[in-house]
Amino acid sequence: MMHPASGAASRLHTVFTLLAGHYGQPVWRRRGDPVDQLVGTILSQNTSDVNTEQAFRSLRAAFPTWQDVIDAPTSAVVAAIRSGGLANQKAPRIQQALRQIQQQSGSFDLSHLVTMPVDEARAWLMRLPGVGAKTASIVLLFSMQRPAFAVDTHVHRLSRRLGLAPANATPERVMRIIEETAPAEWLYPLHINLIRHGRAVCKARRPRCPTCFLQDHCLFFSTAQH
Ligand code: SF4
Repeated sequence: MMHPASGAASRLHTVFTLLAGHYGQPVWRRRGDPVDQLVGTILSQNTSDVNTEQAFRSLRAAFPTWQDVIDAPTSAVVAAIRSGGLANQKAPRIQQALRQIQQQSGSFDLSHLVTMPVDEARAWLMRLPGVGAKTASIVLLFSMQRPAFAVDTHVHRLSRRLGLAPANATPERVMRIIEETAPAEWLYPLHINLIRHGRAVCKARRPRCPTCFLQDHCLFFSTAQH
């Protein structure tokens, strides 16, 4: 929860409010079943949204059930997801992750994570192959509306530039700091709006600071001015 007196909380409040004023406050909507979300997120690693969607569609077209994916030769799964890139790595990870889910849950079902404490649920997911903190948090946040903060490359960069986390913070440290500072209902809109701002304005190589509405509150910008 947020501590009103802390500088970090006040900075986060300002950034959250300005982002929501500019981009709107996205409302959470379920993006599919948690297992679909998990497989989709593994597929999305190191590739674009377009390639991910194409690979996911192609996987579901080739193998209508998750049992079919497990039973298929890995080479056939590789062929089905080739458009997503790194297919040779992702195919065995997806098969093994599905096997583990089936073994531990008795089916392709992650609904037991809905009521588990969020750190335990994240740890459960991170025991699956190819699942790190970012992927686990995406699954928890997007498919179950759990209070997990997913830190992708945009969120990591902007959080540090804006001073929401120390400049040398790892993605997992950023995740911890934001989860400890922000109210749970902010985590989804904050994630979405930081990504929007990272794509549109605060780009990795050339951030458009002169036209950025966050410049008065940005540590990176104020440091660069002196
Ligand atoms: S002022 Fe510059 S560094 Fe700061 S958020 Fe805006 S674009 Fe990013």
